[in-house]
Amino acid sequence: MPENPRTTKTKSPSAADTPAAPVAGGICAIDSETVVATYDAAKEDAKSAKTSRAKVNLAELSHDELVEFLGTLGEPAFRAKQIEDWVRSKNVRSFDEMTNLSKTLRAKLSEAATLGGVTEVARQESVDGSRKYLVAFDDGTSVECVGMPHGDKLSTCVSTQAGCRMGCLFCATGQSGFTRNLTADEIYAQAAHIAQDFGRRITSVVLMGQGEPFANYDATLEAMREMNSPKGLGIGARHITVSTCGIIPGIRALSQEPEQFGLAVSLHSAVPETRNTLMPGVKKYSLKRLHDAMKNYTEKTRRRPTYEYAMIRGINDDDASLDALVDFCAGTLCHVNLIALNHLPGSKLEPSDPARLDAFVKRLSSVGVETTIRQSRGADIDAACGQLKQRKAAK
Ligand code: SAH
Ligand code: SF4
Repeated sequence: MPENPRTTKTKSPSAADTPAAPVAGGICAIDSETVVATYDAAKEDAKSAKTSRAKVNLAELSHDELVEFLGTLGEPAFRAKQIEDWVRSKNVRSFDEMTNLSKTLRAKLSEAATLGGVTEVARQESVDGSRKYLVAFDDGTSVECVGMPHGDKLSTCVSTQAGCRMGCLFCATGQSGFTRNLTADEIYAQAAHIAQDFGRRITSVVLMGQGEPFANYDATLEAMREMNSPKGLGIGARHITVSTCGIIPGIRALSQEPEQFGLAVSLHSAVPETRNTLMPGVKKYSLKRLHDAMKNYTEKTRRRPTYEYAMIRGINDDDASLDALVDFCAGTLCHVNLIALNHLPGSKLEPSDPARLDAFVKRLSSVGVETTIRQSRGADIDAACGQLKQRKAAK
């Protein structure tokens, strides 16, 4: 296990008492007014959640903070090094494994502290070698994350929230409600778990699992920095990509960060009414404002963002939708990633025919917009995009 680079103390949010996103019965059944989804509100939530935890998460403490914490238990400073070794290098999951500490100290620690990280609750392996994990945190909240090997590379996808408030109609996470924000440690720990399980370095990570990263901006950024750090997972910033449904303050904030992190934006339609229906949580950010924010982002960073576009039969795959997409993208620095919708059980939304995907690629390419069709991996284990659905972990 790589050494843990955490330097700040963030405390786990408690199990949330926030309302779940409404479940839609069909494409127009969602009541978007009830979807509470502002950037500022989410930040406030995260702040207040930090103050409501009984136990200290040792994995989140810097060396000095650990020394201070041990002081409150009447323990000398040298214990910090011993504990760090167990928590960070040996990655133990229980205080009982810390055999160079007395039984009394182990008992004291388990009263006052937790070890952070994740506990694997379940896993599924795809025929293509992808592994999807259900992992739980200290409070029993669980999320899913995925590791996808290809050759000597290992791509990963991690979650930033348990559930999501945005309520996108086509997304399994969006249809199953919101539990809480994850801490930086919890986001990082998913990637660390996957690296350990595959026994190799992660070459790229997308923050594209459950949740909306920019509704949990600070923790997400902190986790990305830890993944990037040579003391953490050592993943190049350009290989760490955050995906947002289009929360504009988050896009602006990312463009100011010094690292070269990648950005993907879930667009799914450049027709205002269609996008508002499909993605009610970002209704307040018009396509016009999104377009301006992306212009600002590319001018500032000179990096090429990706637009994710799930093709849904009869909803966003007709010629008018294509015209609107061309208008939105042409002449801008971007890459369009088309994906045939992953069908959700019980949903009326169906994937487009492959011919429509081809028509989109052809037209977009003809006006100079770099476009690819993304093949879902792990479809047989429901690990493909939008299929990471929150479940309750067995405690
Ligand atoms: N909340 C962020 C990141 C998580 S969603 C976002 O929306 O960007 C990860 C990606 O999966 C997004 O591009 C999302 O739009 C896409 N997605 C969700 N449900 C899907 C589905 N049923 N089929 C295809 N892509 C889907
Ligand atoms: Fe949330 Fe992204 Fe799913 Fe929309 S697509 S509900 S923003 S996870």
